[in-house]
Amino acid sequence: MDKSASNATGVLGGTFDPIHTGHLRLAWEAKSRLSLDFVRLVPCHVPTHRESPDTTAKHRLTMAELACIGVPGFEVDNWEITRNDPSYSVSTLLHVREQIGDAAQLVFIMGMDAFNQFSNWHEWQTILTVAHLWVAHRPGNKLPEDDTTEYQLLQQLQCPADELKTCPAGKIHVHETTALDISATKLRQQIAEGITPRFLLPDAVWAYIQQNKLYGYRNENRSND
Ligand code: ATP
Repeated sequence: MDKSASNATGVLGGTFDPIHTGHLRLAWEAKSRLSLDFVRLVPCHVPTHRESPDTTAKHRLTMAELACIGVPGFEVDNWEITRNDPSYSVSTLLHVREQIGDAAQLVFIMGMDAFNQFSNWHEWQTILTVAHLWVAHRPGNKLPEDDTTEYQLLQQLQCPADELKTCPAGKIHVHETTALDISATKLRQQIAEGITPRFLLPDAVWAYIQQNKLYGYRNENRSND
């Protein structure tokens, strides 16, 4: 791979069970605002005993791939999912950094809910030497409390989006993201209850769920799905 500064890359990890419009819009806003060349969607490893019987890693990966078709710069990275053990984000980001080179901007995309736990993450200090953080703030998310490490990190490292373009890693931008009240948990429940989730996720993903009867989908008497 060409290791040049034109490899500006965003990384969004998630269970993606299933991937939905909330994830895609989050990734798109970071890509578009920062003029990133690529965004990698990284489905995470989930131990077999914790998965629903339907949703294998292969299904989650395929749905993420379907969601990226026709979206410029969106890619799926199967690095975590092909490992036997759950991967730490720091390892995933080091793997991406190795591929894109030291000079390229690397942006780790996450929701404020995830950022609020950031100082509990494995080797979080290393993460900040490898990548910037793009933290999506949505109405209803709580901001870090004054006495937390996360609050201190925002005091020290928060900057406007354009400043993330000036160096490869180490800054934090909080982005007021488009509020889409979609969650994979709710989608799984709706599908099991016979509620059609069309337009909350890409059509190709919905078709795949129907074809593979995921999340308890049953097609009897549902010709209008
Ligand atoms: P689940 O309901 O199964 O926990 P989820 O929909 O929250 O799943 P994850 O795969 O856990 O999805 O999320 C991956 C990332 O996407 C997280 O950083 C999370 O904050 C973010 N995210 C999830 N849903 C939305 C949404 N509707 N809008 C913006 N960001 C979202």
